[in-house]
Amino acid sequence: MPGPSRICRCQKIIAAGERCPCQIRDARERKARHDARRPSARQRGYTAEWQHAARAFLAEPQNSHCACGAPATVVMHVISIRKRPDLRMMRSNWRAGCQRCNALDAAKERQQ
Ligand SMILES: [Zn+2]
Ligand SMILES: [Zn+2]
Repeated sequence: MPGPSRICRCQKIIAAGERCPCQIRDARERKARHDARRPSARQRGYTAEWQHAARAFLAEPQNSHCACGAPATVVMHVISIRKRPDLRMMRSNWRAGCQRCNALDAAKERQQ
């Protein structure tokens, strides 16, 4: 036996136990907003862990300069993480780089 129906805030009469289309739409929009704001666990891990480790790496004297001689500002990967994502956090696969070389590298990789 269904319970009494109710009147939604949008004035529609809704059967007991059912959700009004306006509530369903609201819930969907809330979820979409929430999902848009929340980075994936993976991205979050990447940012915090990576930034911390990369900064420490570049602070070491032997990593102060890029191979081109410019001051190092980014950590580059010796073996592309597109080929070996598992080597992303491996310091043995890191080298000090500059923005320019990093950009050139990335462009070269896209052509492959
Ligand atoms: Zn409603
Ligand atoms: Zn460079």
